[in-house]
Amino acid sequence: MRAKKSLGQNFLQDEGVITRIVGGLELCKDDAVIEIGPGHGALTERLLKNAEQVIAVEFDRDLVFLLKEKFSQYHNFKLLNEDALRVDFSKINQENLKFEISDLKSEISNLKLVANLPYNISTPILQRLIDQRHLFSRLVLMFQREVVERITATPGGKERGFLSVLVENAFETEHLFDVPPQAFQPVPKVWSAVVRLTPKTSVVSHEVFFRKLLSVSFSQKRKNILNNLKIAYADAPALLEAADIDSRRRAETLTLDEWVRLASISQTKMTGHRIDVRS
Ligand code: SAM
Repeated sequence: MRAKKSLGQNFLQDEGVITRIVGGLELCKDDAVIEIGPGHGALTERLLKNAEQVIAVEFDRDLVFLLKEKFSQYHNFKLLNEDALRVDFSKINQENLKFEISDLKSEISNLKLVANLPYNISTPILQRLIDQRHLFSRLVLMFQREVVERITATPGGKERGFLSVLVENAFETEHLFDVPPQAFQPVPKVWSAVVRLTPKTSVVSHEVFFRKLLSVSFSQKRKNILNNLKIAYADAPALLEAADIDSRRRAETLTLDEWVRLASISQTKMTGHRIDVRS
């Protein structure tokens, strides 16, 4: 079957890499795993052997036929022919997991997610996973290496951007290892990297507002934070002063704590209500 470029189909061939990705999940026998984009099932087979249940979401109908046949003997396999960008993972959780546990918490603590993602949808899918992270105890994701560098960038680094802060607010991140192009078929032009994400409770309670603030602040890389903020906030100088942030700094130099402070103060000024900053 021909790989479809439009669906980012580069299939893993390297057994060592497959072992390390599945190893990153640290599976227990009673875990359930959601896999996005199973492809030919390189990871799926290992998951089926090591987890209680595997739910795979594959967009390509041709591959769905192939996978159904390939894994027909596994009773712990569920395959959804859907777009992962539209799937509500909480519904998958309720409808497809066969746990007989009424306590929602213990159900959720057993759900993990793995994906060798098509690179053209990595940012929107990551934003979706951020929104639904409370469902998972752990996520192991493969991205183009540049994306992992952005996700894990610390303040002051040139890769630090909107996505870095959003992810830092949502997860503990570990850059596990890099993967050379030769590990795939067809061979891509770029290196990939695998990252492990462990969800954490956000310290900002208004994530939509927080996201907008970040989006404006990082809108033009060359501008300092004041000039970016002015686009959306008339009283930007006062906000920065109240948050004790030098207005000449660039957005990439701010720490998560400073972003949280700025979000809290901006929200207070706009609504008159101090937003609840946990911790
Ligand atoms: N997991 C397989 C592997 O490691 O060999 C395949 C990885 S390949 C990079 C990406 C997979 O995601 C392909 O099977 C592709 O058809 C699927 N895919 C692409 N867009 C998708 C979407 N929006 N929703 C679900 N699956 C998608």
